[in-house]
Amino acid sequence: MFNALLLDKQDDRMTASIQSIDEARLVGGDVLVRVEYSTLNYKDALAITGRAPIARTFPMVPGIDFAGVVEESGHGRYKPGDRVVLNGWGAGETHWGGLAQKARIPGDQLIPLPEGLTTRQAMAVGTAGYTAMLCVQALERHGVRADHGDLLVTGANGGVGSFAIAILARRGFRVIASTGRATEEARLRELGAAEVIDRATLSAPGKPLQKERWGAAVDCVGSHTLANICATLRYGGAVAACGLAQGMDLPASVAPFILRGVALLGVDSVYVPYERRIAAWNSIAQEVPAHVIDDVASEIALGEAVDVAGRLLQGEVKGRVIVDVNR
Ligand code: NDP
Repeated sequence: MFNALLLDKQDDRMTASIQSIDEARLVGGDVLVRVEYSTLNYKDALAITGRAPIARTFPMVPGIDFAGVVEESGHGRYKPGDRVVLNGWGAGETHWGGLAQKARIPGDQLIPLPEGLTTRQAMAVGTAGYTAMLCVQALERHGVRADHGDLLVTGANGGVGSFAIAILARRGFRVIASTGRATEEARLRELGAAEVIDRATLSAPGKPLQKERWGAAVDCVGSHTLANICATLRYGGAVAACGLAQGMDLPASVAPFILRGVALLGVDSVYVPYERRIAAWNSIAQEVPAHVIDDVASEIALGEAVDVAGRLLQGEVKGRVIVDVNR
């Protein structure tokens, strides 16, 4: 038996509770992992609160990422005792995820724990930090460089935003952090932001083309904010778009694309191929100092996940939330 956060649905009413589950109910993967840590991502909060249809079947164990130790393996790459990390691939959406003491997963979806990180640090980084690195790598593949001008990061106090600031500042970019929480300015500057702006300046409907302000951007927010970013990118600039904290819509025009040659680079973390995952995680392990990783995260017990999920969606949580699934 093992403990898990279980989402269930009866007559259209969803429940979320800690349950003791028989290991025999774990099916569908060739690697059994003893989970040490999982996390609470924005997507997990949407799933746990039922705010969005993230869980496609019920009952469902949420949790889009975890780090732990292999207990049994039928996969050539892994043997018992190996430390592994999982991000995405539908965990917590189409099959049972990481907010549990055990998980059974196809080995092809795992990566070895990057050298230099503990399982706890890997989950302090989690899907958010890994997505931040995917955004940075997407911008750099596009040719964005530090001398192209200021780089805007929206949703700055969130997990993706916090890591994006830390990574970009260390790569020499002048980072402008956009946030709704001005009280966190000192924290954002400590992460590496050169300036902090009020997100309200970006979140209202704006003109299709506005004064050029940013060489590039990482956007966690979507909606009018992303439209305004496109309208204010400098000629040839690019935005890596990964999130929808303001909204899923994109009320923009083609003007910035056809008149300023700007690029909108979509970033997905869920189905990224193995080699690109390894590259992103290795860069994180090499570039982001341990004290930044440790400071960006707070830790909760599995039983607190439901309460914290609600607060995360209210914007009351800053940085990353690690879940110790064994307490
Ligand atoms: P968090 O909840 O940690 O952070 C989101 C941040 O967005 C908040 O901290 C807040 O920052 C800002 N925000 C919240 N509400 C609004 C609003 N109404 N308008 C403007 N800004 C707002 O989430 P994550 O950092 O983990 O994820 C950020 C986004 O990226 C989410 O939408 C998530 O779903 C998405 N994501 C996508 C992935 C992918 O594969 N494409 C992978 C991971 C995440 P502040 O307080 O500083 O204003």
